[in-house]
Amino acid sequence: MPRDISFYRRLPKAELHCHLDGSLRPETMLALAAKDGVHLPFHDVPALKKAVRAGEIRTSLEDYLSAFTLTLSVLQTAPAIERAAFELVEDCAAENVVRLEARFSPLLHQTHKLALEAITEAALAGLKRGAEKTGVSVGLILCGIRNLSPDSSLAVAKIAAKYKARGVCGFDLAGPEVGYAASLHADAFAAARDGGVQITVHAGEAEGAWSVAEAMDALQAKRVGHGTHLIDDDALLVRAKEYGLALEVCLSSNLETQSVQSIAEHPFARFLRAGVRATLNTDNRLMSDTDLSAEYQRAAEIFRLSDEELRRVCLNGIDAAFVDKETRTALRASTERALAAAM
Ligand SMILES: [Zn+2]
Repeated sequence: MPRDISFYRRLPKAELHCHLDGSLRPETMLALAAKDGVHLPFHDVPALKKAVRAGEIRTSLEDYLSAFTLTLSVLQTAPAIERAAFELVEDCAAENVVRLEARFSPLLHQTHKLALEAITEAALAGLKRGAEKTGVSVGLILCGIRNLSPDSSLAVAKIAAKYKARGVCGFDLAGPEVGYAASLHADAFAAARDGGVQITVHAGEAEGAWSVAEAMDALQAKRVGHGTHLIDDDALLVRAKEYGLALEVCLSSNLETQSVQSIAEHPFARFLRAGVRATLNTDNRLMSDTDLSAEYQRAAEIFRLSDEELRRVCLNGIDAAFVDKETRTALRASTERALAAAM
């Protein structure tokens, strides 16, 4: 008997891979454009969704990334960034996300020459206001961009370290993967690690398994974003499991960027059943017109996940979160209680 979406909404979930600039509410995007005098090529929610939806019209990661030009155009002031971050926490709380790690690159919010510090502070303020209202545990991941200069990534990594005590929990590298090796940004990763900031990297999404190996070996990543093509290398899969690498899997997004040809062909369940720490995430709620409950439902139905496997996905999210020991212990205990009540 397939379960109703309300079951998946009740599950205590961790959202570890969610882009602030890809997860705006459509209504907010229109409101921010009107307020800040930004021209958008649409005036209502259906037209907006059509313009930014990843769906059938996009055929690659590069193509998918082009939609961000529109969302970023309304996120160029501190109040706009604060609002987007706050509303993302509200949206997560409404579907029982217990830990949210939102990510964005301050480098992409400098149209009006805002300082990287001011941009980071705005996102942190919105997350904090959301956490205070909802009780969701929050963290912020700052992203360097693969096809921007290594110096710009290093600047972001230094900001990540500077704001660690104020809620930045991770450093990531996003953007087009093909032709832009993460190791070019090795100095940025080293600066983040030296500052006690945890590492995740978008890897193995558009590129092969070697990109996941690079994330583990050269950058000492604790997690990778997607990691889809890890499935192509059996020996590396075993090594990733032993290393304790967590995979931030985003099913709908992977279909839309054509990292996989269908969700049924996605290696998520094979990762999970091989004992790799696989988690489920949305990537971009607006572009993929999804939320985390829908991603869980999709996975459960397509891969016929058992209750034990669903439990494991929820707990993997907590175990992979970039939190201190005390927070993890508390989150694990409350998540186990909530799982016992839900299943
Ligand atoms: Zn991503």
